[in-house]
Amino acid sequence: MTQGVWDYIDEYEEERDDLLDAVDTVFRSGRLVLGESVAGFEREYAARHGVGHCVGVDNGTNALVLALRALGVGPGDEVVTVSNTAAPTVVAIDAVGATPVFVDVVPDTMLMDVTRVPGVIGDRTRCLLPVHLYGQCVDTEALRDIAAAHDLPILEDCAQAHGATRNGVPAGSTGTLAAFSFYPTKVLGAYGDAGAVITDDPALDSALRRLRYYGMEDVYHVVATPGYNSRLDEVQAEILRRRLRRLDDYIARRRLVADRYREGLGDTSLRLPVVAPDNTHVYYLYVVRHPARDLILERLRERDIALNISYRWPVHLQKGFAHLGGGPGDLPVTEAAAEEIFSLPMYPSLRPDAQDRVIEALRDVLAEL
Ligand SMILES: *Cc1c(COP(=O)(O)O)cnc(C)c1O
Repeated sequence: MTQGVWDYIDEYEEERDDLLDAVDTVFRSGRLVLGESVAGFEREYAARHGVGHCVGVDNGTNALVLALRALGVGPGDEVVTVSNTAAPTVVAIDAVGATPVFVDVVPDTMLMDVTRVPGVIGDRTRCLLPVHLYGQCVDTEALRDIAAAHDLPILEDCAQAHGATRNGVPAGSTGTLAAFSFYPTKVLGAYGDAGAVITDDPALDSALRRLRYYGMEDVYHVVATPGYNSRLDEVQAEILRRRLRRLDDYIARRRLVADRYREGLGDTSLRLPVVAPDNTHVYYLYVVRHPARDLILERLRERDIALNISYRWPVHLQKGFAHLGGGPGDLPVTEAAAEEIFSLPMYPSLRPDAQDRVIEALRDVLAEL
């Protein structure tokens, strides 16, 4: 059997009774859209982050879109972010008509190099959008100082960082707003698409609630445009409530997987993930680096091990973003990383024997290079 990067079937077997009970709870509630489960999840997710409000939405991309809309970001505005990210970060900026402006990343963590942010802030800058990529936080303290000095809001892309902390503060608690995805592979995943935005600002909370509900305030009364239908599904919300209680366990299990990689591969020529000081890492992805990446992946494929690259094409070099005018050489650290990175299988239910097979295959392949 091919060993891939993610598989949820064992985990489903473990949680099946609880998940089916979640579905049954919603089906019996008499309220299939925006009922008790969405409200309950929103309360519990806000509380976990120590913020006042959480608005459940349909996916992580729309969490970003609605958050940008709530901030009033639109055509003519610039949003500062990174090119080493999942494309949806930038798709969302583009979807509201704003222009993404990229800064390069820090070489060891491959996260936003916040020291470069002041250099790109101009008259049209409306928002800073850091991405807590792979499962650890950007330098949020430094970014907050920059945002304060320029009177700019921060929208944190937390799609890969549920439960990650920096100096004890959870990802998503420092920004003006934070967007989460609960896509099934994420550290907190639903059984389908789901997302949320958290904030401490009651006005932004109200704006988000309108935006996800056609722009309506009362039933059938549109008070603002544009509106969307971006509601969090009631069944996914109940599943997320059950799974939120196990989030710390999922993270602990991911860390055990990371520890086993470090033990098994620490003495090889692979560069293993670097955890920044003051950060705790939740290992959404376990991203390693090697200059012979393509050859290694090919040799692993011959051994029935299929790995991913997150991300092979920096966003500024992707065809759909050619209109931004970016090109090779713009972001040297990002572009160099993209040539060398690849991801090892990482999920809470990854079995030690399956993991050891990947470790042994990698050791063999590296020894033959
Ligand atoms: C997954 C992801 C998104 C998009 O979330 P969806 O729920 O798939 O729409 C956005 N940003 C980052 C960094 C992601 O990893």
